[in-house]
Amino acid sequence: MKTNYHTHTERCKHAYGSEEQFIQAAIRAGIDELGFADHTPWPFKTKDFEPRMRMKLSQFQDYLNTLKELKVKYQDQISIKIGLECEYYEEYIPWLTSEVKNQVDYLIFGNHYAYSDELMPIAPYMGNGVKDPESLEVYVNSSLKAIESGLFSYFAHPDLFMRCYPVYDEHVEKAAHLLCQACAKHNLPLEINLSAVAALMRNPKSLYPSRPFYEIAKSYGCSVIIGWDAHTPGPLEDKKLYDFALDWIADIGLKQIEKLTFKKED
Ligand SMILES: [Zn+2]
Ligand SMILES: [Zn+2]
Repeated sequence: MKTNYHTHTERCKHAYGSEEQFIQAAIRAGIDELGFADHTPWPFKTKDFEPRMRMKLSQFQDYLNTLKELKVKYQDQISIKIGLECEYYEEYIPWLTSEVKNQVDYLIFGNHYAYSDELMPIAPYMGNGVKDPESLEVYVNSSLKAIESGLFSYFAHPDLFMRCYPVYDEHVEKAAHLLCQACAKHNLPLEINLSAVAALMRNPKSLYPSRPFYEIAKSYGCSVIIGWDAHTPGPLEDKKLYDFALDWIADIGLKQIEKLTFKKED
C-alpha cells in the first residue's frame, strides 16, 4: 500500500497547484490513500495579524468543503483524508482540541515554531533558527509536550532542526533520545520526510535527514512513515525519490508503516 498524509494546498502561500492536480498526481503515482495536512490556521489574538505561512482562519471552511467534495468526486480512484499540520502553541491548543479536531480526520505535528507566529521574528523558524544547544532545548521541550498530548497521529520531520544545526553533537544525541523515547512510549510514528530525503539525494553529506537520529529511533522500536510534505504535485510522481527513501529506511532497518492509524480522542 502506498500512502501520503502530508500534502499542502495553496492556502498556506508557499504551495503551488490545485487540490485536483495533487490528487491526479497521486493517482498516477499509484498512491492508494492521500491525506491533505495543510498548515493549520490559528485563532490569533493579535488583531489583524496576517500569518505568512498558513491559511487564515476564514479560509478553513473552504479548505474542508473543497476537500470533502473532491473526496466524493474521486472516491472510486483514491481514498482522500482531511487533516492539518499543527505546531504546539499552548495558548491555542484548547481551541484546536475543542473546535477543530473533530472536523478533520487527523492532525500531524510539525514543530515549525515553538511559539505563535505572532512573535516572529523573535521566535525563529525551527528549520533555520536552531543553531545552538539552547534553541535545540526549546525545540525538544515543545515537541515533548506535543507528543505527550496524544492529539497527533504522527510527528512530521522530527529532525527538522538538523536543517540548520551545524553538527551532530552530544546535544543532538540527547535530543534524539528524548524525542524517540517519548514517541515510542506514546506509539507516535516518526515521519521520513521526502523533502529532506530529496536534499540528501542532492547532497549526500547533508545532515538532514539525520541518519544517526533515525538509528536512535530504531533502538527504541519507533515506527516510521513516509511523508512527501508535498508543496507541489510533481514530487508525488518522483519514483526515484520514493525508492531512495525506501532503501534508506531498509538500510537503517526501521520499522515502516504505510496506513496511518488516526489518533482518536483520549
Ligand atoms: Zn509548508
Ligand atoms: Zn508540511
